[in-house]
Amino acid sequence: MKYVSTRGQAESLDFEGVTLTGLARDGGLYVPEVLPQFSPEKIRKMRGKSYADVAFEVIQPFVEGSVSDADLKTMLDATYGDTFRHTAVAPLVQLGSNAFLLELFHGPTMAFKDFALQLLGRFFDHFTTEDHKLTIIGATSGDTGSAAIEGCRGRKNVSIYMLHPKGRVSDVQRRQMTTILDENVVNIAVDGTFDDCQALVKACFNDHGFRDKVGLTAVNSINWARVMAQIVYYFTSAVALGAPDRKISFSVPTGNFGDIFAGYVAKGMGLPVETLAIATNSNDILARTLETGRYSLGTAVPTLSPSMDIQVSSNFERLVFDLAGRDGTQVQNYMDAFQADGSFEFSANELEALRASFVAGRTDNDATKAVMRAYQKKTGYIADPHTAIGLDVADRLLPTSDIPTVALSTAHPVKFGAAVEEACGITPTLPAHMADLFEREERFEVMANDNDALQQRVLSGIVS
Ligand SMILES: *Cc1c(COP(=O)(O)O)cnc(C)c1O
Repeated sequence: MKYVSTRGQAESLDFEGVTLTGLARDGGLYVPEVLPQFSPEKIRKMRGKSYADVAFEVIQPFVEGSVSDADLKTMLDATYGDTFRHTAVAPLVQLGSNAFLLELFHGPTMAFKDFALQLLGRFFDHFTTEDHKLTIIGATSGDTGSAAIEGCRGRKNVSIYMLHPKGRVSDVQRRQMTTILDENVVNIAVDGTFDDCQALVKACFNDHGFRDKVGLTAVNSINWARVMAQIVYYFTSAVALGAPDRKISFSVPTGNFGDIFAGYVAKGMGLPVETLAIATNSNDILARTLETGRYSLGTAVPTLSPSMDIQVSSNFERLVFDLAGRDGTQVQNYMDAFQADGSFEFSANELEALRASFVAGRTDNDATKAVMRAYQKKTGYIADPHTAIGLDVADRLLPTSDIPTVALSTAHPVKFGAAVEEACGITPTLPAHMADLFEREERFEVMANDNDALQQRVLSGIVS
């Protein structure tokens, strides 16, 4: 499989190359040159297979030429056989007559990020050696950090520096990162927002000298392997509900647009996806874009769903590339305009194509709490605030019909205990493997929103 950059200037790479590179050198994101096509017969044969076996079918064409079938099988069995706490890995829960919830929080850090990052950690291990080490600098709005650290901790040839916006992640989220004391893990609290953290990471990538010196790669969803791993559960859930002989719609709590983009890729591979609903909190750049055709920067505001407190959705560029007819020059023009003026406008055709696959809705804090309460009352189900936004947007924007709707449940409610308590009057208890989280020793450094300071810190780690 060959991968090309959304900005059309960087060299094309194979899977190993894109996994170890992260961001393309022209500032773009890597996407497959062509998507593998799955026939209805091939999809039908997924019925009754284990999660790891479907993962093999879905992922194999994307890694062909870089990972042998035997190695891939071993990695997938280790990832989805051993580290998830539910035998179905991604179980469906029925909450209405034709409405389902896909629970993606049974991994070690209890958010859907584990699906990709447990696997990515294994790919890093597979592709690195004593002479070819990697440095990871990542930005987290909460859940990526712990999942990435959990996926990379203790891996011999990998160092991970994780930036989180100081005071803007939940206590559970922070402690899940800062209590991991492995030597190859450095947590940094940045005085700023998640968007600031993400901009610092991008700046490191755009400094090619620095990048080469430290062997930099990404664990954020700019790394294609993240998106790839997430395609799998669109297949498993749709097949469980009758695909390919029935269409399915999905509602996806969205921040960086990685998770929902995986659903769009699944559709492009032949899965019969009817509608993809982008569910956002008050940080609603994507909902506004669908309304107006203008992708226009707003101000990030803190909400009850901090993992979606994002204005600049980095993966959206992958969709823009498709909408613009896979014309890298056009993507570059759009991104230049966005950089300079904070916005760009889609053409009428592009907007039509966007609206053909997606709908979008926003749910503010009060509505989020009301939805959490309503579901608790109606079904007994306690949803975390991110999940509640997915449920709300599914209920409002996906028509009730014979097409099943699947809302993605992206985190376990215990990760957002304060919000659950405020909305539902219940304090979720930490599961046994995390019961002593609040007694564990924490370790993190505080840093200004300053790229030089960050690079100095990383270089000091490399030299010592
Ligand atoms: C990361 C995250 C999201 C947003 O996913 P994207 O791929 O960034 O759109 C939603 N909910 C939770 C709980 C998350 O951790």
